[in-house]
Amino acid sequence: MKVLSKNFSQKGLWLDERDIPTIGHTDVLIRVTKTAICGTDLHIYNWDKWSQQTIKTPAVLGHEFVGVVEKVGEGVESVVEGDRVSAEGHLVCNQCRNCKAGKRHHCKNTKGLGIHTDGAFAEFVKVPESNIYKISDSVSDEEAAIFDPFGNAVFSALRVSVAGEDVLITGAGPVGCLTALLCQHLGARHIVVTDVNDYRLNLLEGEPRIKTVNVKREKLDDMISSLGMKEGFDVLYEMSGEQSAFNDLIEYSRYGAHIINLGIFREEAKIDINKMIFKSLTFHGIYGREMYDSWYKMVSFIESGLNIKKLITHTFPYTEYEEGFKLLNNGTACKVILDWS
Ligand SMILES: [Zn+2]
Ligand SMILES: [Zn+2]
Repeated sequence: MKVLSKNFSQKGLWLDERDIPTIGHTDVLIRVTKTAICGTDLHIYNWDKWSQQTIKTPAVLGHEFVGVVEKVGEGVESVVEGDRVSAEGHLVCNQCRNCKAGKRHHCKNTKGLGIHTDGAFAEFVKVPESNIYKISDSVSDEEAAIFDPFGNAVFSALRVSVAGEDVLITGAGPVGCLTALLCQHLGARHIVVTDVNDYRLNLLEGEPRIKTVNVKREKLDDMISSLGMKEGFDVLYEMSGEQSAFNDLIEYSRYGAHIINLGIFREEAKIDINKMIFKSLTFHGIYGREMYDSWYKMVSFIESGLNIKKLITHTFPYTEYEEGFKLLNNGTACKVILDWS
């Protein structure tokens, strides 16, 4: 089968051949139809410090996907050949305290599909049955292919109630944009998104309660006064990994606000904890998705009218993957789909 693999310890990704995976008793073999490129894949493509420390070459990348069940192990009961499925990319141990308690998203031994094991940038991928999520007819292939970042956004947006609240989101990457759309869907009053990338901020244009600020040339203070806000933001999402953005969150939060942090800082961040204490802020670290409540809610939100399709900006046949990575590196794409069908 064809795969996209990190074959060498240098920038790039290579179109290669592998045997179709053999499945065990409780595994499911999926014929991949569509995949999406994640920020993580971009890090690995670019071969940054984190990837060099994490990835063992050769490695088949990819964890955002949708496909059709091709074959199931003898012990598999919940899906059959022909089912349309996606899957949770965090492979958990099922043995640690949190796994035993049903909090699998807090597993201390999590392994990443397409990071620590061969992933979905392939014609076929093998996934344990417990990670499979059946996709209902109400969800398109394109939407299902981005359930991994959508799940990050759902987990973040549901952390605390945003109904009637004012929301600030720093970072208009895919998860930042998805979170903005979700907060609007959930009834937030004002949603302000900051970034330095006009292409991505413009994707949110036309949304009635979402405002954007390009911090390179616009001031957040001007936006706040134009909205008539008096007390600062109630719920603040850090989704950029920029230290200056985190400082903005502390500065522009109201007393008693919640900071929800999904962005991963490139370097050790210097944070004024005293300010956080004096303002009685609550910090929430977000990693992954809630297994599997975030998945249930994703389908539910799409069925209740949330439109996430505008964030899928490009689709290429998998053979043209280089074009997708180029656009993402230039910041002139949001979600890029690779078609394997
Ligand atoms: Zn991802
Ligand atoms: Zn565990």
